[in-house]
Amino acid sequence: TAGHVVVVGGGFGGATAAKYIKRGNPAIAVTLIEPKKTFYTCPFSNLVLAGERSLDSIGHNYQELKEVYGVEVVHAYAEDVDPVAHTVRLSTGSTLKYDRLVLSPGIDIRWDALEGYDQAAAELAPHAWQAGEQTRLLRRQLEAMDDGDTFILSAPANPFRCPPGPYERASLIAHYFSQHKPRSKVLILDSKDNFSKQGLFTSAWQEVYGDRIEWVGLSGDGKVVRVDAQKREVETEFGTRHKAGVLNVVPPQKAGKIAERAGVTNSSGWVPVNPRTFEAELAADIYVVGDATVAAPMPKSGFAANAQGKVAAAAIVASLEGTSTVDPHWANTCYSLINPDYGISVAGVYRLENNEIVSPQGSGGLSASDADGWVRRAEAEYAVGWYNAISQDTWG
Ligand code: FAD
Repeated sequence: TAGHVVVVGGGFGGATAAKYIKRGNPAIAVTLIEPKKTFYTCPFSNLVLAGERSLDSIGHNYQELKEVYGVEVVHAYAEDVDPVAHTVRLSTGSTLKYDRLVLSPGIDIRWDALEGYDQAAAELAPHAWQAGEQTRLLRRQLEAMDDGDTFILSAPANPFRCPPGPYERASLIAHYFSQHKPRSKVLILDSKDNFSKQGLFTSAWQEVYGDRIEWVGLSGDGKVVRVDAQKREVETEFGTRHKAGVLNVVPPQKAGKIAERAGVTNSSGWVPVNPRTFEAELAADIYVVGDATVAAPMPKSGFAANAQGKVAAAAIVASLEGTSTVDPHWANTCYSLINPDYGISVAGVYRLENNEIVSPQGSGGLSASDADGWVRRAEAEYAVGWYNAISQDTWG
């Protein structure tokens, strides 16, 4: 036979890899393991929080992967991997044998990293850093919040999923407040001093929201070290307490647990890979893509996970056929919305140099700081175009 590939995780990286392996060689059997029947994207989930989109509108299913591409989809959880026997054990009790394995499990929360923030606390102070139930919960809390109360977002140190995500979220919640809770404010408590698109965000906040959004960085005592989810209170490094009407903790993260089980993570909690193929450094025939990997300077984004999924797919098709692949190039664009009609972006281009991912001098860049209003409106439209295109490319 042409071989059997098992893919764990039907998000941006995994669904893309499954589809592109089938596109590369339809004779390869591909089994995708994903517990959810509907995958809700984190991209555009901040619009759901702002009441500008329905949760349904960011849901995707696996129909096209099954029917058009012939991917076998199993709705189960992968519990363990035996990298020597080449097997994956599922929550259903069955064990699958693979020739090549792809892991794209995304992130897991480091529940032990922030005092007071465990699974129970996340039901009171949601992270909403994995979309779906958590998004719904945070949205309900925002709707129920009293006008005049403060929304507090605690942002983690690097690296974490979606570097501009917390700041887009703060923006869109400020947008919601400006229309529905005019006396309410947004306070961002940050564990770092610099963040993605900082200059663009900061000047857009000034321009659009005045003093509605306040950002406190690490050196201003912004690092949250303790959470009291019951009281919706946080305490910072130097003992300042802040009380929220709605508390959103974006906690420290690591690679999804199955990567640990497969033995491919290092002491950082993330997965080192050979960037030419995205094969794990620590196990043969296991390819890991997306947020779980160490792929800096590429960000932990859906765009990057999709691009890496294609690189792994090409490498797997080639290795099963006994041929070789070319050196990959990647691109990434992260759009962020200040409000539904105001977009900004950061773009990156990447290639290999001495088997390391580098961003060539002079490539990529940011939206112009002095752009006219029509440019911001156009970028907000491009964001929608990007969302529709990548969703189509990933899930069909
Ligand atoms: P995911 O897409 O999370 O997929 C992982 C999947 O694996 C999940 O479906 C999970 O159920 C499954 N899984 C995990 N463990 C197992 C297991 N053991 N067995 C079976 N299945 C398993 N990126 C952008 O490019 N643009 C944006 O505008 C953008 N906006 C964002 C906004 C927010 C608020 C957030 C939080 C993120 C945003 N991102 C954005 C980042 C993007 O969501 C992630 O980078 C992307 O989802 C990573 O893809 P992935 O395949 O690594 O993980």
